[in-house]
Amino acid sequence: MSSPLSVAELGLSQVRTWPSRVRELWRRSLRFRTVSITVGLTLVAVLASGVYMSISVRNDLFSSRLSQVLDDSGRTMSSVQRLFESADINDRVAITTVMNTVRNQLAATSSSQLIAGYRAPGQEYNPYAPQGFRSSELAGGVLTPDLRNVVQDGIGEQWWQSVTLKGASGEVPGVIVGQLVDVPGAGQYEFYIAFDLSDSERTLQFLQQTMLIVGFALLLLVGAVAWVVVRLVVEPITIAAETSQRLADGDLGVRIRETGADELATLARSFNGMADSLQQRIRELADLSLVQQRFVSDVSHELRTPLTTIRLADDVIYDQRHSFAPATTRTAELLHTQVERFELLLDDLLEISRYDAGSVQLELEPTNLATLAQDCIDGMEALAAERGTDIRLVAPGGHNQVEMDPRRIRRIVRNLIGNAIEHGEGGPIVVTVDSNADAVALTVRDYGLGMSEADAEHVFDRFWRADPSRRRTIGGTGLGLAISTEDASLHGGEIDVWSRPAAGSNFRLTLPRTPGGAVMSYPLDRVPDDADGSGPPIRQGDDA
Ligand code: ADP
Repeated sequence: MSSPLSVAELGLSQVRTWPSRVRELWRRSLRFRTVSITVGLTLVAVLASGVYMSISVRNDLFSSRLSQVLDDSGRTMSSVQRLFESADINDRVAITTVMNTVRNQLAATSSSQLIAGYRAPGQEYNPYAPQGFRSSELAGGVLTPDLRNVVQDGIGEQWWQSVTLKGASGEVPGVIVGQLVDVPGAGQYEFYIAFDLSDSERTLQFLQQTMLIVGFALLLLVGAVAWVVVRLVVEPITIAAETSQRLADGDLGVRIRETGADELATLARSFNGMADSLQQRIRELADLSLVQQRFVSDVSHELRTPLTTIRLADDVIYDQRHSFAPATTRTAELLHTQVERFELLLDDLLEISRYDAGSVQLELEPTNLATLAQDCIDGMEALAAERGTDIRLVAPGGHNQVEMDPRRIRRIVRNLIGNAIEHGEGGPIVVTVDSNADAVALTVRDYGLGMSEADAEHVFDRFWRADPSRRRTIGGTGLGLAISTEDASLHGGEIDVWSRPAAGSNFRLTLPRTPGGAVMSYPLDRVPDDADGSGPPIRQGDDA
């Protein structure tokens, strides 16, 4: 039993499978790929234009606010200068009063409470000169020595610096503007006004938020549009792909619906035209094949009667062959062999045309495959002995009765053993029978001529022979294995082969336990254990 995954493990396994899932989707779905690419490119475009717009708006906002601030402070400084020049400054009290007025004027005209005024350093001590002033917000290094140095350098010039001010809601951006002013009777004074730029900052933030929302909405819109467009194009292609698959699976009547007059309708029309001509061609071929089958069947039937007469005449001649001259005797024997071959060939042809016509019925009965194999071996013992061949049955399984058509299975086994004797070069033949829960199987292993891999691929073809010049003693027609294959597949079974030149062959028949079922597993291997060339088995008591 598998143990339950912890939340962390579950999360980890999902993370691991995510990239592979996305990769798989990317590989398989044109729709996903197109929508992803479109959304990705739009995202890049939106980001690039957003960043560009944000930077240029910020610069623009800052420069317009700065010029406004400089105007503002310039005006204030001029009015301060005028105030000093018009005031009647002759004692300490008067000058302090003017200074207070200046202080109020600075605050009022500049619309900023962040102000400071210092007596410029390096001047003679003047007992009338009033003290400087500074609003508390400008304490703590907001006013830098750098700014003060440049301001002290020239009368009438405005200097500014970007600073961070401490506002009610934390730190805010600001600008501090300074100017040196001459106070008659008191010396030179530096005046500073700081301006809070948080309103520009808020405008910028609002703009950025708006751009973010618009960009996101644009992404969604573009994604949706891409999805709809791809769907419009891909759906007909998907239908065409599915329809071709059904056509390839043999459903020749299937067609694509033709609507409209666009490119997709042209695709559908061409596809349907192709399917029409394919169906027509296959029908013609099927008709032709039917005519051929009928021809073979008719010819075979027609030949039956004359062949029976020839066979009777041949029997008479063959029985009297010893009374003929030696040359005529040989001719009579030759005639007899060929008539026998002719009869065999005709039987096989009739059988195969029955398969082609689909008029073959299985006559099933419970059969013990091991016993059936033993019967076949017994029946062919004499022929094997003639060739000096020893046939052995090894049957670890296959003794339980299985439903099969014994006449057809016997024909297969006889054909396989006959071929093994024919091509076995007098070596031993091992017939093995075994079974498992799904199937019963029989192999016929010989140690004779064998075949190349290319030849073995054709061994079940009709009229195919590995080497037509091979000497034949049993008189095969070249249809034996073709008929065996038909017999086996009628049972839902199959025949296959392993063969190597000079190492012999191993033919395997596998039948499902239920006729018509499918072979799911193989009780016997196609490649024999001694395929490496360890040679034929030696029976106990045989000379080593
Ligand atoms: P045939 O009537 O010629 O035996 P088959 O269909 O039974 O027809 O076999 C087709 C050909 O396959 C044979 O002519 C032979 O060349 C090759 N063949 C079949 N069995 C064997 C085998 N055991 N070893 C080598 N070749 C074989």
